[in-house]
Amino acid sequence: MEGKQSVEINGRNFGVRLIRAKLRNSYAKVDGDCIVIKIPYMMDAVTSEKTANGLYKRIVKALQRNPGRFLENRLEFCDGQVTRALGREFLIKVEPKKAKNGSVKVDGNRLAIKIPQNMEAHTERDMVSKLAVKGISMAVLPLVDARITALNDAHFNSILKGTRINNSKRVWGSCSPENVITLNFKLLYSPPEIMDYVIVHELCHTKIKSHSKRFWKAVANVIPDYKKKKKWLRESSYLIKS
Ligand SMILES: [Zn+2]
Repeated sequence: MEGKQSVEINGRNFGVRLIRAKLRNSYAKVDGDCIVIKIPYMMDAVTSEKTANGLYKRIVKALQRNPGRFLENRLEFCDGQVTRALGREFLIKVEPKKAKNGSVKVDGNRLAIKIPQNMEAHTERDMVSKLAVKGISMAVLPLVDARITALNDAHFNSILKGTRINNSKRVWGSCSPENVITLNFKLLYSPPEIMDYVIVHELCHTKIKSHSKRFWKAVANVIPDYKKKKKWLRESSYLIKS
């Protein structure tokens, strides 16, 4: 891994960073779009290279086996983080303000998040992440909407009543009785063909509400290899059941 800047795993690009720090044990973690490997700075060159290589191989394997691991991590956002959702890059900037509630504004590729002063660290982290999810969702909603419209126009011609993005722990998508299509925020970080599958699945529900044989036939008409996509989602969904 020495000298490696980035790696593609299941269609996602990860930066690779090796950090030597004052610590006892080496470890690897996924931090947003980045694989971070930390090695004690006291370790000699040969051992640290060997250790870093071993950790790198293990974390790449874990991510290949279970992409949900990074999908889960992606829901944590912090100040200074650059995150890519649906191919758009966002820089997260957090500033304290004198107010009770937090807020988020999208300004080009900047997510300006304001949070109340003097919050406890973990409450602050939660609030920043929630506001980032909200801001990113607002910013990419028109793109998601356009994709849904394109797939609907090409294959279904249903009358749709709107698009939403939520942060469900339960489902990847849903279609309301009034044909409001809701997609899971995590799909913004999945390969585009996976999001397309979920969109087509929900658009099929505008015609057929159940998961009958007829339903799956309709899905297969648009996405012949939809079973592969279902498998990808299943493997990414230790957080998301169904
Ligand atoms: Zn369904």
